Amino acid sequence: MLGKLCKLLRTCGIDASYSNEGMAILLDARREQRVILTRNTHLRDKKDVCFLELSDPREQLENVIEHFKLRKEIHLFSRCIECNAELESVSKTSVKGKVPYFTYKNFQQFAQCPQCGRVYWKGSHYKKMLEEIKYVIKQENSK
Ligand SMILES: [Zn+2]
Repeated sequence: MLGKLCKLLRTCGIDASYSNEGMAILLDARREQRVILTRNTHLRDKKDVCFLELSDPREQLENVIEHFKLRKEIHLFSRCIECNAELESVSKTSVKGKVPYFTYKNFQQFAQCPQCGRVYWKGSHYKKMLEEIKYVIKQENSK
């Protein structure tokens, strides 16, 4: 239900695990000492659960960052959007053949996920994500 929010949190570099497993999530969260964010009404009144009223992912992101005081934790594009692992900077030559030729030619900085191997660079996807979280980030700067 909150897949989009999860990706936005990871884009901000915030450690976010994702699960669709309903009640089983309670055990995992307790073991990993995580707070559960949910829109699942069955989980609403459980301990350590934060029920999100808003349905817009950007508003959810803003709320979560406010509520848990995560502004200082924001490190943009430091985490893999897919698997939550922290990205490592890698040399340009090491990504040769792993990214489109155009990308290789036009970008100098690359980061890679040690878990899934996905390569990141500040291309159009980066700009699109930045656009999505801009509102939240802007507020950070104004404070
Ligand atoms: Zn990954």
